[in-house]
Amino acid sequence: MKELFNKYLMPYWQDNIYLEKTWDKISNIPNEELWNIHYNRKVKLLALVRQNTINRLRRNGMRYEEIMDIVSKLDPNILTIGFARRFATYKRGTLIFRDLERITEIVNNSKTPVQLVFAGKAHPKDIEGQDLIKQIHEISMKPQFKGKIFLLEDYDIGMSRYLISGVDVWLNNPRRPMEASGTSGEKASVNGVLNFSILDGWWVEGYNKENRLDNRTK
Ligand SMILES: *Cc1c(COP(=O)(O)O)cnc(C)c1O
Repeated sequence: MKELFNKYLMPYWQDNIYLEKTWDKISNIPNEELWNIHYNRKVKLLALVRQNTINRLRRNGMRYEEIMDIVSKLDPNILTIGFARRFATYKRGTLIFRDLERITEIVNNSKTPVQLVFAGKAHPKDIEGQDLIKQIHEISMKPQFKGKIFLLEDYDIGMSRYLISGVDVWLNNPRRPMEASGTSGEKASVNGVLNFSILDGWWVEGYNKENRLDNRTK
């Protein structure tokens, strides 16, 4: 993305990211070039998801064929939604599963399927946060979600770089007004990743009613 910005934005854009004029030329970036870069990032992320999932499920004693069946569903042409951060309860990591029937239909839609990638850690003393991770694991093992919902382990800053640059949509649904910033969403946006967020944290300031998908595609 840096190379792309170097090519199309004004010199020293990195020192002037707060100036509106720095971004004047952003729409000169051809869609195809932006998409190719994003697509490469996505392929790299999915390779990491694949390996991480294989390692985890093997350790859990799952049969090899079943593991392969799950990871073979990963597809860079499927809309990929990411959620990765501390599993503090206010961040509501499991909110998207509130209506299981609906999310089952969404991820398995034959024309426009969706895959979800989760990662994160909970504080050792945060039992409720740890329980969220357990819930996501259990949901991801339900037959209708196998190969659709992935939970990565060993979350750290290195993995987060893959996630915030490789997913298509960054999901942010904390309980208002608990989120101080939601830094991962800021990182996703400079990587050209769309934010799907409630109006909390940085997004209250970042969202100006114009920077929405339906406006960009007009
Ligand atoms: C950016 C980042 C966070 C913070 O993300 P929030 O959206 O503010 O919760 C947490 N962990 C890692 C590894 C990060 O890179």
